[in-house]
Amino acid sequence: MIDVTRIKERIDCRTLVERDLGRPKYRNNTYSTYKCSLHNEEKGFSLVVYEDHWRCFGKCGRGGDAIAWLQAYHSLSFQEACEQLSSGDLPQLAHPRLSRQQKSQMLSEPPDAGWQEAAQKVAHQAMDTLWGREGKRAWRYLEEERGLTEDTIIRAGLGYVPGDYREWQTIDGLKVPCGITIPWFADGAIWGIKVRRAAGEQRYHQVGGGNIKGCLYLADDIKPGMPIFLTEGEFDALIAGQVGLGLICPVSIGSSANKRINARWFKKFIAAPRILARMDNDTAGEGAASEIEALSSAVRRVQVPVGKDVNDFYLLAGAIAVQAWIEANLE
Ligand SMILES: [Zn+2]
Repeated sequence: MIDVTRIKERIDCRTLVERDLGRPKYRNNTYSTYKCSLHNEEKGFSLVVYEDHWRCFGKCGRGGDAIAWLQAYHSLSFQEACEQLSSGDLPQLAHPRLSRQQKSQMLSEPPDAGWQEAAQKVAHQAMDTLWGREGKRAWRYLEEERGLTEDTIIRAGLGYVPGDYREWQTIDGLKVPCGITIPWFADGAIWGIKVRRAAGEQRYHQVGGGNIKGCLYLADDIKPGMPIFLTEGEFDALIAGQVGLGLICPVSIGSSANKRINARWFKKFIAAPRILARMDNDTAGEGAASEIEALSSAVRRVQVPVGKDVNDFYLLAGAIAVQAWIEANLE
């Protein structure tokens, strides 16, 4: 009997398709692209091949797994395709692919060195712009509407990429959304750059190719033996640091959809005598808080007394009130 699951988890579709079509036009860690030979594509590169499946985003729209590729490209029957794949003379993966759950338990890594170098340039260029004439409005926004001090802005390395809120710029080969840049540094690497747009439905974007999902904002600021303040938005963490520095080490999981903490950062939480978690009351925020609770009994969930988040609370009540609130929660 054919064990289809076993065949599929041992074959990397990218290697399989490369054997048939040669070098891809483009390749990154996740996928490769080709001219789609199934519809004899002339212009464009519509065939996208991932580790476990492939798909034509052009005319023919075909797609499927490794078995489906052999059926389509070599006109084989299902049975024949399976036999070829299990015969062993095709490129096999050294280790079977990991399940989604196994993957989530893996320790995250920053983007490669080339990306990081380009991202550093983007971050520096944006910092320069923020300090210049073009950055005046962004600067005012950070000071007046967010309440950040010059010191915090410098410490966080915030910057500005000028342009309309719908625009993207290409800087050093990276796709950069226009807006206020928030670089994510940790463990000696730059993991991503979050960008806060001036308007639009989706306020936060990130520079293409980053791995913010795998990072923890301000993770390097965690000091063993000090309480941690876990929050969602980067600005919340920056404000908490601004008023509570010396009392707590603020970290953020980021203000957008991803609200999980990669296992890479768990060890940072274990030595904390107290972890204050200020999460939004939604399922995602709930998920992140429970994750940390499973790790440490020092977690205390907190909510701000006024306003929707820490930044809001600060603007409404002022630094002394926020500081007093943090102190009260640490008792
Ligand atoms: Zn096609």
